[in-house]
Amino acid sequence: MSRMGGPQVHVMNQRVERETGRKAQLSNIQAGKAVSEIVRTTLGPRSMLKMLLDPMGGIVMTNDGNSILREVDVSHPAAKSMIELSRAQEEEVGDGTTSVIVLAGEFLAQAEPLIERQTHPTVICNGFLKALEDAIKFLDTIATPLDLSDRSKLTGLVESATGTKFIARFSKVMIDLALDAVATVAIDDGGRKEIDIKRYAKIEKIPGGDIEDCRVLKGVMMNKDVVHSKMRRRIEKPRILLLDCTLEYKKGESQTSIELTDEKAWEQLLQAEEDAIKEMCADIIAFKPDVVVTEKGVSDLSQHYLQKAGISVLRRIRKTDNNRIARACGATIVHRTAEIQEKDIGTGCGLFKVQKIGDEYYSWFVDCEAPKACSIVLRGASKDVLNEIERNLADAMNCLRTIYVDPRLVPGGGATEMAIAQKLIEQSKLQEPTIANAYKAAGTAMEVISRTLLENCGADIIRKQTQLRAKHAGGANVNWGIDGEKGELADMAVLGVWEPLVVKLQTLKTSIEAASMLLRIDEIVSGTHKKD
Ligand code: ADP
Repeated sequence: MSRMGGPQVHVMNQRVERETGRKAQLSNIQAGKAVSEIVRTTLGPRSMLKMLLDPMGGIVMTNDGNSILREVDVSHPAAKSMIELSRAQEEEVGDGTTSVIVLAGEFLAQAEPLIERQTHPTVICNGFLKALEDAIKFLDTIATPLDLSDRSKLTGLVESATGTKFIARFSKVMIDLALDAVATVAIDDGGRKEIDIKRYAKIEKIPGGDIEDCRVLKGVMMNKDVVHSKMRRRIEKPRILLLDCTLEYKKGESQTSIELTDEKAWEQLLQAEEDAIKEMCADIIAFKPDVVVTEKGVSDLSQHYLQKAGISVLRRIRKTDNNRIARACGATIVHRTAEIQEKDIGTGCGLFKVQKIGDEYYSWFVDCEAPKACSIVLRGASKDVLNEIERNLADAMNCLRTIYVDPRLVPGGGATEMAIAQKLIEQSKLQEPTIANAYKAAGTAMEVISRTLLENCGADIIRKQTQLRAKHAGGANVNWGIDGEKGELADMAVLGVWEPLVVKLQTLKTSIEAASMLLRIDEIVSGTHKKD
């Protein structure tokens, strides 16, 4: 409102709900804790399922934290922002979605008594962020490198990252597929690593068949047939030419319409068209390709010339498919037929074939020498099964990509978190007195992972947790955590439960930063009207 005595300005609708100061912070803490309460029983191998009724009346049964939170309908803004967290984590590293929520909820819970004792939120946040900084440094010291050629260890890793969500029967098949696919598309030339799964590993679902028939091709396939029935449908060691131009007669740039006055002009026009097509086809035929693939159309006349020359043609394929064929067969996509060069022709493909499966035709470019792109063919009884496999496979590939990019591991089962907790609690004595309490609270919060794993096993929480703390005392036994199946203390190195360092780092950062952000809010204005 203006102090100058000018007109009054309403900056806010008077009927909105407002909470300010400590009340707002405590309300945010409650909301955050409530969200984490929803998913905490789904953490770890002994997780419980949740049965959800979606707004359309359908039932979803899942134990994936992220899926659960997607379905729950919350109205508190802080709860909404917590749910966003798990989605962000899923997109960023593809794992740790439950852990991030459980941790963030615990950081808030630990902050609660501090807020009640009138500690300023900024001070708490500073303590939390300093703790995060130190935890990141500490993680670097305990991480161990992984040998990427060790397939059994990789399998174990993917299993522990995603295994708790998989339908067991698919798990082995899925992990094998994911390993093959990621190994195919990974490029590592010294420093730069490129693993673009979305672009170069495409999942193709063909209903029917058995799960055991799922394959990662040494090449690519797509749902396409050759344009003419007389063209060859099986060619060994084909020479492949890829185009992104049309093999039809191109009209003028803008919409030209030609008015013809006599028959001769008509013939001339047809002739011009024919000549243009003949020239394009001659350009192509000169390089003796066996297969020509284009993203655009192919006219009847071009089909005729090319078929006469013994060339099989695929038309109107997707740009992304063309890119994959290029990478798999060592071809370069050409933009104009006049510009074709010998080096553009792909010769790395062992077999081109068109095969009918069910009612559909599929083109296969397989047995490639060094494919850097691939198709993953999924077979399964029904669409639903295929979709489920596809989701799981995408999870597994995401997890592997994270590992390939930075192959360093830390122990799972709450061991890493307990080690960090011990370190932070010990170091809290050395912190500036103002932030020491918050710093210590962050450390204490880290114990939540092993506690929750114990809880989900129905173990004696207090006793086991105390034993674990004792194991870690003085920075010893960093690999000791909780065996999530039995609820006993165990050496994670023996149990083989490891997690990628990247995922752990991201989980920590996301959860602490989110909790700090919620704590710094001192006013909640919700636009919904009060219900009387
Ligand atoms: P998230 O979505 O956070 O990945 P999960 O339900 O996959 O949730 O649980 C992951 C947690 O469970 C991690 O802390 C991981 O170390 C732990 N975990 C997974 N398998 C085991 C196991 N066999 N024993 C103990 N802990 C395990």
